[in-house]
Amino acid sequence: MQAIGIIGFSNSGKTTLISRLSECLEARGLKVAIAKHTHHELDKPDTDTALLMSPRRTVIGLSNTKDGKGEAMIHWGHPCFLRDMVPLLDADILLVEGGKAIGWLPRILCLRTTPELLTALPEGCKALRPELALATYGDNTLSGLPSFTAEDLDALADLIVERAFLLPGLDCGACGEGDCAGLTRRIVAGERTPADCVASRGAVEVTLNGQVIGLNPFTAQMLSGGIRGMLGALKGMAPGGEVVIKLKDR
Ligand code: SF4
Repeated sequence: MQAIGIIGFSNSGKTTLISRLSECLEARGLKVAIAKHTHHELDKPDTDTALLMSPRRTVIGLSNTKDGKGEAMIHWGHPCFLRDMVPLLDADILLVEGGKAIGWLPRILCLRTTPELLTALPEGCKALRPELALATYGDNTLSGLPSFTAEDLDALADLIVERAFLLPGLDCGACGEGDCAGLTRRIVAGERTPADCVASRGAVEVTLNGQVIGLNPFTAQMLSGGIRGMLGALKGMAPGGEVVIKLKDR
């Protein structure tokens, strides 16, 4: 799965951009997932289902309509980290609204003109970490970054399909860049690639619903050694070869 953050100050047009980009990407046959960060409570309509939601309570909603359609949702009444929820997603591309602190995916900076923003540029933009950005969107530009507007959304979608990526977010430092944001910065600059993430290609590969789960190198070595040790006594087990174990639904 690929991922891109849409980052900007309040009222900079992030939600509108994500909505339009989703349509653009879906028109190309891609499955889109969206994650939205907010400092407020999530919008909950005045419904029976919302009545069941409360802090520390998990609510599952399952809808199967007579026309064969349906939808499902899980509401956790406590904060979660996006990194832990990514394996649940069934999508080709994840669009993340907000989350300035997230350094394990690249970003598009939403720079719609507001008087406050204009006076804040470029100093204010430091908070948006332009070193992790592939491009800007809106009326303002930043030197060194390609800029897009509503007129060239298709070109922005092309850039995202070509360059969006997702690192595991373990901040293990095994790639030599200190943390995931360090490698993201180098990938965005064209100096390294996502394949340089050591945690994504260790001695053990674990996938959940097809999504690779990053393991820090120490954990991967421990798992690899333990599994090989257990399997070593089995007839036909030769040392050194690739071992594939699949845990299927029960
Ligand atoms: S090796 Fe991968 S998971 Fe570890 S810091 Fe580098 S990018 Fe992040």
